[in-house]
Amino acid sequence: DIKLEDVNSGETSVHRIGTMVLTLGMDTYDPKEGEYGWSTVPHVISTLDLEKKLRNGELKKAPKNPVFIHCVGSRQNPGEGNRYCSRVCCSAVISIQHELKEMFPDVKIFSAYKEHIRPFASGMEEMWRENRQKGVAYLRWDRERPVTVEQSPDGKEAIVTVYDTLSQETFKIRSEMVVLVLGLEAPHDVDEVTKGLGINRGQDGFLSEMHMKFRPVETTVPGVFVGCTYAKNISDSVNQARAAANEACIPLNLGTVTIELLTAEVNQELCVGCDLCHYSEICPYDAISMVEIEPGVKKSVTDEMRCQGCGACAAICPTGARDMRWWREESILDEVEEMLKE
Ligand code: SF4
Ligand code: SF4
Ligand code: SF4
Repeated sequence: DIKLEDVNSGETSVHRIGTMVLTLGMDTYDPKEGEYGWSTVPHVISTLDLEKKLRNGELKKAPKNPVFIHCVGSRQNPGEGNRYCSRVCCSAVISIQHELKEMFPDVKIFSAYKEHIRPFASGMEEMWRENRQKGVAYLRWDRERPVTVEQSPDGKEAIVTVYDTLSQETFKIRSEMVVLVLGLEAPHDVDEVTKGLGINRGQDGFLSEMHMKFRPVETTVPGVFVGCTYAKNISDSVNQARAAANEACIPLNLGTVTIELLTAEVNQELCVGCDLCHYSEICPYDAISMVEIEPGVKKSVTDEMRCQGCGACAAICPTGARDMRWWREESILDEVEEMLKE
């Protein structure tokens, strides 16, 4: 049963559901204070801020020497944060630069990219080439010599210093608008959903699928599908969401679900309620919980819809209360004994 709350009216309702498709979206990276001048140099904004200015018609005249700094919060060094590429930001930046050039043909734009430019989306390679032909300067920097941003002594501009590894020259650019190209992250409150549903997150923090190639929209919980996993553009997100919706239709059309019989069961007489199988989080499918059967007495139970029969809980149980239905420890020992006789 799923309990939903209408945040406007405060009303709650409970729904019994058979399948669920999660399309949780993304959040943008929150830069630290001072990171490339964020919240310390007045001329530093994010790609989203610039996008809002463009949509609201706030940009009436060309800013002097706008500089875009790529990969802020993405492809970071080991131990410093997000290691992955956010995949959409190079394309977004190329598209914004194209728009700026159409609005203000004489504006001199600089794009400081970290080692690579990755314009994954369709048509972006061509737009990137067109931008270069129109004079947008793409400067390649690397981790050994990162870009720095400081305020000019008169406070009117930012000074961006970029060592371009291709020309081997250092550029000091006086700019009225420095745009940080922020990476994407899993929604910052995603833990509430994953803990509630018992599904997993990958190392990058995004919801993880059962198998990237063979089961790309399934989760460890049967009936729960992911419509969006790691950072991707709109068309890829729509494709994944469609695939998830199609998968969700299969159990809905069948009307019933067949579950694997090889699940873990608990001998309630042997279970001493030590909580080890639950507290240790040994179960990769979050199929174990403790239930109070009488005041002060707890016993372990298995959610058979979730259990995939991996046997990990049976191995950890100190009293032998947990065992696999149809594949008990005794039967294995009997088989071994018979084989040894032969
Ligand atoms: S898409 Fe471009 S800006 Fe975004 S993380 Fe990847 S390389 Fe960096
Ligand atoms: S580890 Fe065994 S004895 Fe302890 S709670 Fe789990 S099933 Fe019961
Ligand atoms: S057998 Fe595996 S999947 Fe089933 S409850 Fe035990 S640990 Fe979880």
